[in-house]
Amino acid sequence: MEILVFLGPPGAGKGTQAKRLAEIGGYTHLSTGDLLREEVKRGTDLGRQAKSYMDKGELVPDDLVIKILISNMSSDGKYILDGFPRTISQAERMEELGLRPERVLLFNVPEEVAVERISYRRVCPKCGAVYHLKYMKPKEDELCDRCKVKLIQRDDDREEVVRNRYRVYLEKTAPLIKYYSDKGILVEIDATKGPDEILSELLKILGISDER
Ligand code: ADP
Ligand code: AMP
Repeated sequence: MEILVFLGPPGAGKGTQAKRLAEIGGYTHLSTGDLLREEVKRGTDLGRQAKSYMDKGELVPDDLVIKILISNMSSDGKYILDGFPRTISQAERMEELGLRPERVLLFNVPEEVAVERISYRRVCPKCGAVYHLKYMKPKEDELCDRCKVKLIQRDDDREEVVRNRYRVYLEKTAPLIKYYSDKGILVEIDATKGPDEILSELLKILGISDER
């Protein structure tokens, strides 16, 4: 089993890079945010419990998140965990379960960059592809390149919720920077760069040959 953790504020570009790296490096991309949104969409019990927290930009309780994560992992996979762990207690629970990250990649961006990226983020309601209306534009006006359906804005990408998500990040998630740095497995990347440059840096850090 191999685990990489992508750490950083909402809007830093973790999901964008996780999808690309997963394809090139043969990883399974697990975003707890995506998994939770799927439960909400399917109207499951877990989804109903998670929704009220997500709508406010608060963290969903550990037990729910861990349950959904575990049910998507097997003991011999290669995983990129995107958006998990989000608290020290989640990191500790992860270790108790024998899930030890090899490397933690910290996506460094200032708040204003994260907020600008999120405000122009649009997603495909069908395939989940992520676009940015300025920097990663769809070919046709607000339509998914693949599915040709109208892109939507996530409910929690509205400015007032975004600011709260950033505050929650600083309070609950940022302490993981020291936690993983003390373990000697944290690698910082400058995530203000363009998507291709960031991917090159990730491939270099991980020693994966760049066959784009
Ligand atoms: P996260 O998963 O960290 O919340 P996303 O990967 O969804 O972030 O990216 C947030 C927004 O920023 C999306 O609209 C995405 O298209 C855009 N984006 C991602 N990486 C970059 C980049 N390197 N430069 C500019 N925009 C980016
Ligand atoms: P994301 O897609 O990573 O931006 O996450 C969207 C929302 O899902 C967050 O604002 C939280 O409400 C919830 N969420 C995602 N991952 C976690 C996690 N590891 N712990 C708690 N809540 C989470």
